Amino acid sequence: MVTINNKITGDKGELEVIKHVECPNCGRRLMLLPNSYPLYDVQCRGCFFRAQVKSTNGSKPHDVIRGAGWDIINKVLKSGALVPPLIVNFKWKEGDKQRQEIRFYPFIKKTNLCNYTANIKSRERLYKMFNYNLKGMKFYVLYEK
Ligand SMILES: [Zn+2]
Repeated sequence: MVTINNKITGDKGELEVIKHVECPNCGRRLMLLPNSYPLYDVQCRGCFFRAQVKSTNGSKPHDVIRGAGWDIINKVLKSGALVPPLIVNFKWKEGDKQRQEIRFYPFIKKTNLCNYTANIKSRERLYKMFNYNLKGMKFYVLYEK
């Protein structure tokens, strides 16, 4: 069991991705999708590229990334769809320097998703969630500082 303080850090991370990263396919600017849009957070202004965005604050790039609710992705995977491409915005401190690396994982296998049950405090209920375990998966670095 995992207890999660349901902080919303996603939106700021998504804005940083829009600011720093161009479409990996065509080089045009990316734009945010509406919050209610399932599974994808950003899309390209010039082509069909879409991706999910995750942000982590406070630790160096690592393999296990907090995902989202399990039910929607599980339904999508059962229908035969693929896991959406993922952009991960890592931010951490090294000494007094703020570091950042934005990675793009173009392909994620079904077996990279691990589901678990979380106790989400703000909603006072148990919720099925998943994490990404991206160990060994190929990625491109789209931005670093
Ligand atoms: Zn594009």
